[in-house]
Amino acid sequence: MLHGELERGEVPFCPACGQKMHIHGSRITMLRHLRFGSRLSAVSFEKRRYRCPCCGHTEMESVPFKADDHNITRELFQFTRDLLAYGFTNKEVSELTGLGKNTVKEIDLQRLKDKYTVDGKTLRKPEKQARFLGVDEFKLHNGYKYASLIIDMESGHILWLAHGKRKRTVYDFIDHVDEAWMDGVEAVACDMNSDFQKAFEERCPHIQPVFDYFHLVKNFNEKVVGAIRKDEEAAEGKVISRGGELFSQPVVVRKSGYVQRYEELIRQNQLFFTLDIIKDKLANAYKQTDEAAMAEEISDIMDICTVKSIVHHFSSLEHVIRYFCGDAMPLL
Ligand SMILES: [Zn+2]
Repeated sequence: MLHGELERGEVPFCPACGQKMHIHGSRITMLRHLRFGSRLSAVSFEKRRYRCPCCGHTEMESVPFKADDHNITRELFQFTRDLLAYGFTNKEVSELTGLGKNTVKEIDLQRLKDKYTVDGKTLRKPEKQARFLGVDEFKLHNGYKYASLIIDMESGHILWLAHGKRKRTVYDFIDHVDEAWMDGVEAVACDMNSDFQKAFEERCPHIQPVFDYFHLVKNFNEKVVGAIRKDEEAAEGKVISRGGELFSQPVVVRKSGYVQRYEELIRQNQLFFTLDIIKDKLANAYKQTDEAAMAEEISDIMDICTVKSIVHHFSSLEHVIRYFCGDAMPLL
């Protein structure tokens, strides 16, 4: 504990009527201060109370080194904020500063508000113009709620994080950064045929949607491979157990007879074989760093799809064709 006297000038004037105030009383005040070595410290001093003899207004003496809203010095306040900014956990900061958990939490909340908002409520606009955005959705810990995330793909900075409907999230984000900012964005990486894509296309037609490999393969597996598997199951009379495992019924009586079924299976195997090739080629296409080489791989895939006339049998494969033929471009 360090005890001292406040350096002070003249007794202040009343802010209400302008009269010179009187000293109305005083009390010893203690403020927590920086730690020295392994010891926490505090400063104490006499703090006056002033009263206006004219209008009766009273006020406490202002202390230049006291942090606003906390009984700590500005130095300790800054030290605490810096520790938090350097990534120390609230618990660690609490131990290092000797401050209570709630105080640390309040300081951290204020720090984050100052950093990310204009007035504690309105989120600050991104400082830098982003050229490439990435938008995705992830499950929150409880597994029921989803959050949508918009990031600057070049810096990795999170620009927007919100619950709720995917389209709404995009609209809100665009309103937040404004149309002029969006004009500087060239491309957005998102899920194929998603609400994200549609929302960006509606509001900012100049932005090119691009598809990352992860989402592309996920879509391919779910929509194309999944649909074909279903067709195959229907054809072979397979059933799906509760656990999702496949049980094939060994004897399937079909009007068309054994021979036709055999041919069908061959055809279907060929189809799966073709799908494997497409998957390999997709992976390969995404490994290319040269645009022309990637385009070649993609056009190969399109050839396979059309030559095998897969599209005639399974409409779901049209997705693949449409992704590649449409104005959407895969992400390099
Ligand atoms: Zn007064």
